[in-house]
Amino acid sequence: MKRFFALSVCVLIAGAGAAAGQRFTGYTSASTARQEEAEKTFMSLPSPEQARQYHRFLTAEPHPAGSERNHALALYIAEEWKRQGWQDVTVHRYDVYNSAPREVTLEMVEPVRYTAGLREAAYDVDPDTKNPRVSRGYLAMSASGEVTAPLVYARGGNPEDYDLLEKQGIDVRGKIVIVRYSNPYSYRGFKALTAERRGAAAMLIYSDPAEDGYKKGPVFPDGPWGPETHLQRGSITYDFIVPGDPLTPGWASTEGARRITPEEAQSVPKIMAAVMSWHDAKPLLEQMDGPEAPAEWQGGLPITYRLGGGRVKVHLKVDMDNSVKPNYVVEARLRGADLPDEWVLVGNHRDAWEFGGVDPSSGTASMLEMTRALGEMARRGIRPRRTIIACSWDGEEVGLTGSTEWGEQFAADLARRLVAYLNVDASASGPNFQGSAVGSLAPLLVEVSRTLGDPSGTSLYEAWKKSAAADTARFAATGGGERKGAVGDDSLADTRIGSGSDHTVFLNALGRPVIGLTFDGPYGVYHSMYDNYYWVNRFGDPGYRYHTLMSQLWGVLALRLANADVLPFDFGAYGRDIETFLRELCDTPGSGSAAAGAATSGCRAGEFDLGSALTAAEEFSGAGRDLKRAIDRALAAGPLDEKKAAALNRRIMDVETNWLSPEGIPGRPWFKHMLYAARYTYAHLELPGITEAVEKKDWQTARGETARLVNALARNAALLRAAAAGLKGP
Ligand SMILES: [Zn+2]
Repeated sequence: MKRFFALSVCVLIAGAGAAAGQRFTGYTSASTARQEEAEKTFMSLPSPEQARQYHRFLTAEPHPAGSERNHALALYIAEEWKRQGWQDVTVHRYDVYNSAPREVTLEMVEPVRYTAGLREAAYDVDPDTKNPRVSRGYLAMSASGEVTAPLVYARGGNPEDYDLLEKQGIDVRGKIVIVRYSNPYSYRGFKALTAERRGAAAMLIYSDPAEDGYKKGPVFPDGPWGPETHLQRGSITYDFIVPGDPLTPGWASTEGARRITPEEAQSVPKIMAAVMSWHDAKPLLEQMDGPEAPAEWQGGLPITYRLGGGRVKVHLKVDMDNSVKPNYVVEARLRGADLPDEWVLVGNHRDAWEFGGVDPSSGTASMLEMTRALGEMARRGIRPRRTIIACSWDGEEVGLTGSTEWGEQFAADLARRLVAYLNVDASASGPNFQGSAVGSLAPLLVEVSRTLGDPSGTSLYEAWKKSAAADTARFAATGGGERKGAVGDDSLADTRIGSGSDHTVFLNALGRPVIGLTFDGPYGVYHSMYDNYYWVNRFGDPGYRYHTLMSQLWGVLALRLANADVLPFDFGAYGRDIETFLRELCDTPGSGSAAAGAATSGCRAGEFDLGSALTAAEEFSGAGRDLKRAIDRALAAGPLDEKKAAALNRRIMDVETNWLSPEGIPGRPWFKHMLYAARYTYAHLELPGITEAVEKKDWQTARGETARLVNALARNAALLRAAAAGLKGP
């Protein structure tokens, strides 16, 4: 009674939208009740034991892209989806430029001889570590060749690191640089491009214990951190320029497709590169001469890190089989009962560097449990209103390849029909939930988190708040900012979306809304053979409780989107994010802030004014808030008529499309989204066209990109106003 009373007061004060506690966003009271029943049934179905069994099978053997085993797993998933009651199961084949090692050898030839093993040590407690099919260390897409040259230490391999070397008078041209997997993270492909641009002959990357080894805590097999010989394999593809198959940039690698040569491909590196453990790096580093590296460059090894004065010479030979190989994307559908041409897509990549315990097989196990539960619902006659499509991607690790090719193949349909893409890469490496979403879907993610129970005994929502607060406190403690303590609902979901997983084609090329989900924790074995079944059972998710929670969360989100009367997007929230992104570009922090009221013209960036963009963003936010109120009011009164709902949902789906700029962002035409992109490091990059121009002080480009954004904001504000007006008519 009390709760009801409180709600009625809200209705009186707010006028509308206050019954949200009783209705799901985008649902009437009656459809909320039906949905609650359906979700309850759905959530009762995933089982930790079944997830464990899937996981054991998926992680039994190494299964990199292009391997026979990964093909076998594709066929297995296809059969499993048929058995689970899914429809239209298809295995798509794409012939793409792949990369596998033939021979990688590395030795120090001066001042003493040392041959690097490039091999990970086996442990008796974990039989998988003795599997002879585990590869030695290599980096996919490395060039082939052979070189003997002096070694230079370039810390994280970022441009500022080379600048410092230059200041110290150290020339890296023709030399072999050794760099670390650094914190903050920068994608190894960016390190390779940087080394290539600086004229290095080759690049070695190693895992320093300061980043993911014993300096962090107990190492495998006693703890979750990386042991002495762990190798962080990976790809160095320049997929930040254009992802997917390098030979078909921007179109699908289907049979008979036009292909360019590897020499013409912008995303194929020209430099040789190899990966090392600290076990193999230490003998080299401790022999180095030259100036002592600065304090921030010193790592976790008990040696003095030096920049390199020519004393250490290294011989590297890389022989890669870089050639066209098939990748397989598995697709299945649960056809929608009412709106079969509106699609909700769920996906996860299948290819792994070795066993893929966390990355990605934890995600694949969660996906197979989710699809089993959804199939079981369909068998019981509970079908989604919209079509749910599930995909198992291939080649994600090489260059986001499978998802990109599939997205490019079906671009026209996806652009029109795809409501949202829900990506899970790694499902569970620990208990801390991290959810990301485009600004318009962030509130839905928070709403759904309240429905689910966390293994810690609270709701997922409470657990999320707690770990987010701990994150911000940690961030503040390391000098990253001042925010501390409780995190508001508005900032729980991460709405800054970079690259590095399969959402990229859908968001950045096709302009479709995306959500990303993961549970994380201490995880020092990424891309090594120790990321396996043993690690997950011992450290990542003993008991598979978070795998199961992921199946539930992922499925409930899919169902909430698939069954909504009105698609549950919040454009007021999206507008608020865009305003924030714009204000971050103002010269004077705080200028153009909401607190200053309408005085937005105070936002200048160098020689141009962001005032018009801020005004347009505020206009869009206002239209978003008004539409939300209008929808809430309409749904509170009962179901919408079918035609009205269809017109409204069409407009809601068109908003994301309008953020696309057909020319793409300057220099990277494949990336078309005006709000989101990634830096070459994979780090998130908001308002990419404007931001990069401002950073380069290229005011003319900045003005052009801003004009584009203002247009899109105005178009979308008008769209939302029209949507609200459409609700009022008879
Ligand atoms: Zn992954």
